Amino acid sequence: MGWLGLDDTDSLNGGCTTEVLFHLLESLPDTVSYANPRLVRLWPFAKQRTRGNAAVAVELITENETELMNHLDHWWTSHISNLGGSIGVSEHSERKQYPADPGMVWMSEEKSDANFYSQSVSSEILLEDLPHVSRHWGGNGRIGATAAVLWPATQSTYEAISWRIDDSEGPRRLDEDALDDVDSLEDTFLCRNPKLGTSLLAPRGNSPVLFGIRSWTRQGAHDALNILQNGKHTEQTKGSLIFKTNQATDDHLGEPILAIVRSKSILKKGHVVIETSQGTWIAFRQSGNIALLSQWLIEGDTIIGNGLRDENNALHLELLKISKSVPERKRPLCKICNKSMKSMGKNQGLRCKKCNITTERGWVEVEREPPFIDWVQPPPSSRRHLSKPLKR
Ligand SMILES: [Zn+2]
Repeated sequence: MGWLGLDDTDSLNGGCTTEVLFHLLESLPDTVSYANPRLVRLWPFAKQRTRGNAAVAVELITENETELMNHLDHWWTSHISNLGGSIGVSEHSERKQYPADPGMVWMSEEKSDANFYSQSVSSEILLEDLPHVSRHWGGNGRIGATAAVLWPATQSTYEAISWRIDDSEGPRRLDEDALDDVDSLEDTFLCRNPKLGTSLLAPRGNSPVLFGIRSWTRQGAHDALNILQNGKHTEQTKGSLIFKTNQATDDHLGEPILAIVRSKSILKKGHVVIETSQGTWIAFRQSGNIALLSQWLIEGDTIIGNGLRDENNALHLELLKISKSVPERKRPLCKICNKSMKSMGKNQGLRCKKCNITTERGWVEVEREPPFIDWVQPPPSSRRHLSKPLKR
């Protein structure tokens, strides 16, 4: 027995590594069985990442490894290697696209590597830095494939994925009542956008995936899959698998960072760049409450944040909390009319023009009221697959 990993088979034009794995499992000789499919999300900033930036792995059990390797050689050549080279085009994606460069690895023993996995979710990995595996096929996809095989899975969640029958076109059909039932199960999460009420189960764009249901437990994923697949108005599927995944684990994040705000600039679209005692932090408009809280900050505020550093070492905020805010300096109010008093000139105190009252005090300090006092994170639709919901 051993573990097989696979990655980088899809482009924006379609395809999905999970489906490629599903077909491979369907093709296995009768003497080979499988267990424990896993879906591992990798570093979101990787240069040649695939659309969902996920790799897959599965345990293969056989008495005859030679026969299995022959089968994998054949399947690789006839069904996977030819998926390379396609560059997708999408109006939704601004980043530079790389052609798919599929990779597959085989590890003939059960092995995990916490250090390598941790690097693969938080930094760029090069092909030449890969740990040794028993056998490998293809190119760049070997990086994700190796990470998926070596993932120690100390924290995990589950996702049940179903694929559309080939050549299915048009909008995905999911039974609304069944969706409600799935959403109300205790263990499922990120089923619906809480604000819009829209389903988050179906992928956007061109994909063979009909739906993916996330669950904290395997049983929850199993129950939800049954409910949705048997829904009256749910379209027929080709098949399904329940994956163990590193989604919603925060595995990509280090310890939260405490910093003091030095300056803040709000860009045109509402993105906020914060210069802090711990470098540049960025809050994108899409980060919702994080952007709102960032816009409120002033010099001297103490904040705690977490996120990933980009290639310029700027921290892209995924979690933010105000630790201590500095008070605002304001002119004192007139005791009679309650309006701000005005300066009469340097060192000459203040006066209310209307009531003619004067005071020596130039400034008073007023506590500022932050828009949020607890941790904030982006809304589900713009959260990373790896991010753990705050409620957890
Ligand atoms: Zn007054």
